[in-house]
Amino acid sequence: MKNEILNVSQSSIAQALAADYFCIYYVDVETDRFIEYSASDEYRQLGLPQSGDDLITFARNSFEALVHTDDQEMFLDTFTKENIIRNLDRHGIFTMTFRMMFQGTPVYVHLKMTRMIEKEARHVVIGISSVDEQMKARRAFDDVHHASITYSRVAQALAGDYFSIYAVDPDTDHFIEYSADHEYEKLGVEKEGDDFFETSRRNMSRLIYEEDRDRFMGTFFKEKIMSILERDGRFTMKYRLMFGDDPVYVSMKATLLEDEHGRHLIIGTNNIDAQMKREQEYQKKMAEARTSARNDFLANMSHDIRTPMNAIIGYANIARDNIHDSDAVMNAIERIGSSSHFLLSLINDILDISKIESGRMTLNAAPCDLNALFRRIEDITALQAKDKSLQITYDRSTLRHAFVIADELRIEQILINIISNAIKYPPAGKTVDLICEEQGETDMGKIRYRFIVRDTGIGISEDYLPHIFESFTREENTLTNRVQGSGLGLAITTRVVELMGGTIEVQSRPGEGSVFTVVLDLAPAEAVQAETGETEQIDLSGRKILLAEDNMINAEIAAMVLKQNGMTVTHVMNGREAVDTLRMDQSYDAVLMDIQMPLMNGYEAARAIRSCAAEYYQNIPVIAMSANAYDEDVRECLKAGMNAHIAKPFSPDELLSLLHQWIRRNDMSGRRGAE
Ligand code: ADP
Repeated sequence: MKNEILNVSQSSIAQALAADYFCIYYVDVETDRFIEYSASDEYRQLGLPQSGDDLITFARNSFEALVHTDDQEMFLDTFTKENIIRNLDRHGIFTMTFRMMFQGTPVYVHLKMTRMIEKEARHVVIGISSVDEQMKARRAFDDVHHASITYSRVAQALAGDYFSIYAVDPDTDHFIEYSADHEYEKLGVEKEGDDFFETSRRNMSRLIYEEDRDRFMGTFFKEKIMSILERDGRFTMKYRLMFGDDPVYVSMKATLLEDEHGRHLIIGTNNIDAQMKREQEYQKKMAEARTSARNDFLANMSHDIRTPMNAIIGYANIARDNIHDSDAVMNAIERIGSSSHFLLSLINDILDISKIESGRMTLNAAPCDLNALFRRIEDITALQAKDKSLQITYDRSTLRHAFVIADELRIEQILINIISNAIKYPPAGKTVDLICEEQGETDMGKIRYRFIVRDTGIGISEDYLPHIFESFTREENTLTNRVQGSGLGLAITTRVVELMGGTIEVQSRPGEGSVFTVVLDLAPAEAVQAETGETEQIDLSGRKILLAEDNMINAEIAAMVLKQNGMTVTHVMNGREAVDTLRMDQSYDAVLMDIQMPLMNGYEAARAIRSCAAEYYQNIPVIAMSANAYDEDVRECLKAGMNAHIAKPFSPDELLSLLHQWIRRNDMSGRRGAE
């Protein structure tokens, strides 16, 4: 046995190492016998046996004489056969640091056990070296710089979350590893040193995942980190480390702490691999869902747009082919008209839904009169019901507070959508009731209103009911299929109700009918001035209009309407020409201004007109006529100095009444100015 051990001990590695160790033992794994290979004089004085059986038991038995009292408990817990074997099996190495007593003086020692297999014999080599100086230096460093941090509960608590924690003195760059888990230890990085950033960069150049290397190297240098820390107090960076074959996501956090001992840089790194993988998985799913929702949306939209387009193009062809048959032409034109209206409402719905979905829909809350709003809704729906031979009733007898702050147009949209369905889906002869109930004051000082739309129509199946508020869904049955619709109305309705902080509910029984209930809490307002309702005779004959429009068809339609009503029209193709024309001729009564035009757009042209000195240019009505029909587009027009906005496609009546209103207003102020 001795020979065998001596054979091994001849190895040059062992010899070279011997000088660094107090003592080196060999243990034969088969027999548990141990033999001392080398020992310093100091160590010899401890009087320990140079060979024997079962070194572990021997050491445990003599712990009271060998180990500093404060470390004895830890020693007995750690220096057990099971623990040592487990570590050797798992990592090939077992290490521990404790204070050993040398003639009454504690000395920090580092005990290291490694397995060796040589010439079929299996040995464990045990070396004990002094780490007293390092430990004392570390303690001194701790005491001076980090006493408060090292032992603080925070640091202790954090240590469990981080696989490595370093403390760095930012002035000297001296660093110490506070804690490191075993996986990290295996990477073989320094535990202490004098040049933290250089050391880290050197280690990282071999340990970091290739794809993250440049980013890390481009960031992780002292000046940069310190300047970020000085500005933000913290610095974080995510990258992938190669613990094994696969990259693992880690997150490094650096914090600058300042206390009475000075500044400390604490750098902790934790494993965020599972979290990153979950996040990536989630992002991937979301992206897939978005793509499929977008594809569905586009598919639905193009299908729904093609249907009325098909009618428009089809009937235009029929009209052309039957141009001498005035009944056929009239019928075709009526169908083109109704399909176009449906197409327009579809486009408005699509714009609404995409606006809602991107979070860009806002409410324009203003004082409004619910009675006036209801009168309008009643007028529209009474006509629809009459066409369909349905009986419709209205009840707003409980309404006491009719003046509220609300977005009137959106409330109208909600109710018209629901009532139109209640009229659209039931067959002739059924009934529809619209009830508006005032339910009293809420805790927030608002008034609660309940709007109920009840029909005795076809009802909604149990299967479809849960999906009724989803976009582009419609109940698949022969009754609904006969009715034109896109499945967007109720989707928009619910979102608008939600935007107003209200609720919407539906109850329905197939064959019996449906009840939709919307509850809104609205803030009461002072009475608002009702519109006079006085309609003035519109006469615009002889007026001179400047029309700026780059699209020939749109220009032709507008010019036709204007000319048919006795006006003269000058058509220009862009904003630049509009401004030049007005500069030369101050006899125009109004400008109709498209927005998107080449050379100079409508906004720029309006600003240029208003910036001309003469009073004429401040007062001439400029009305935007644009397909950009969002609220923000309208605001933008007014901001550019225009008087009003009319959305394309426009109704001739609307255009005429707007022109009339502004030209008359300008006439009157001109007259006042002249008096
Ligand atoms: P659209 O009417 O354009 O199809 P909506 O979103 O307004 O879209 O309605 C979705 C679906 O809900 C309709 O297609 C219809 O199947 C069903 N629905 C809505 N209101 C009623 C009602 N009052 N009676 C029967 N079915 C209804």
